[in-house]
This record gives sequence, C-alpha cells and structure tokens, in this order.
Amino acid sequence: MAVYTLPDLPYDYAALEPYISGRVMELHHDRHHTAYVAGANTALEALAAARDDGDLGAVNLWEKNLAFNLGGHTNHCVFWANLSPAGGGRPEGELAEAIKDSFGSFEKFQAHFTATALGIQGSGWAVLAYDSISGKLVVLQLFDQQGNVPVGTIPLFMVDMWEHAFYLDYLNVKTDYLKAVWNIANWQDVAGRLADAVARGRGLIVR
Ligand code: MN
Repeated sequence: MAVYTLPDLPYDYAALEPYISGRVMELHHDRHHTAYVAGANTALEALAAARDDGDLGAVNLWEKNLAFNLGGHTNHCVFWANLSPAGGGRPEGELAEAIKDSFGSFEKFQAHFTATALGIQGSGWAVLAYDSISGKLVVLQLFDQQGNVPVGTIPLFMVDMWEHAFYLDYLNVKTDYLKAVWNIANWQDVAGRLADAVARGRGLIVR
C-alpha cells in the first residue's frame, strides 16, 4: 500500500503556455514527479523491511533516498500549485505587506529571488519561505530536492531550477525562464500558504 501518490496537475499540461510548454509540463509531472513518488515509497518500504529483518546496515542509503524523493514529491506539489494560467501580476493584502516588511519592496524581493535562483550551483530550487521563529519571510536556495533549508521554515513559493524544468523551452537561458515564471506566479496560492503559516507555524518548531 503506497503511502505517497502522484497528484493530478490543477490545470491542463498546456495551460501555462507560452511560458512553460505542455511538453515540459507533461514530462515534468508524468515522469519526474512520478519518479519521486515511487522513490519515496520504495525508501519507506526498504526501511520497514530493514526494521523487520533487524538489518539496518543500509540505513544511510535509504534515509538519503527518502529525503531526496520525499523532498522531490513535496517540492513539486508546492510548485504546481504556485503556478496558474490566471497568475501573474503582484501580490496583494497580507502577502504584499509581508514582502514589503521583509524585503523592502516587491521589486527588491523579485531581484533577490531571481539572483538566488540564477545563482544555484547545480540542481535545486529557489524558495520564498516563512520563518516560524522570526515571523519574517526569507529567500533560500534549496539544493537537489532537500538540502540547505532550515527545518523551521515553511515554503510558500518555490521555483524549480532543475534543467528538466526549463531546458526544452529555454535551453540554458535561465533568466528568460525566470521572467516567464512571474507571469504565471499564483499569488493567491502563495497568500493562502502565508496565512496558514502565520496561523499555525509561529513558534511551532522553536517554542
Ligand atoms: Mn522538477
């Protein structure tokens, strides 16, 4: 019985065109995200078998595989919801206020986030997150699917900077991919995540 299952996209594969092609979305969701879901389930099954067998000699391997694949599943679930064919424009309300309070202005946040995304060495994600200790927003570089992100932060807006997310559409011109993403950013989804993070997250990790 699989613990994790692949969610449907909340829109058609081609819904984000011309910013992200239907071909990229289909490959990304049906092959890459599928592989992370399968990998997370496999890791859990292997760990259960290892416990039952009393042989935890490969525990490091499976813990690494679990973190990578569950990270991949988590990240893509957030990413699909963070994008919308009706997206773009600018954040409003509490999200707009939080961005201004934490970064100075939306333009400064965009420049910071873009530089963070373009600066990732290797594969990873650019992340706007809510820090549950300070109550402020932070921008982070997440390496691979799981590295370099403090556990007390809650992701709000994540952009996939793995080559599989943009290469067929933009080759190596990551700046054009990033520019395209602003046109499909679903700020309503991000604002909902912030409201939930503020309501439930503050003080949850560090009391
Ligand atoms: Mn991806």
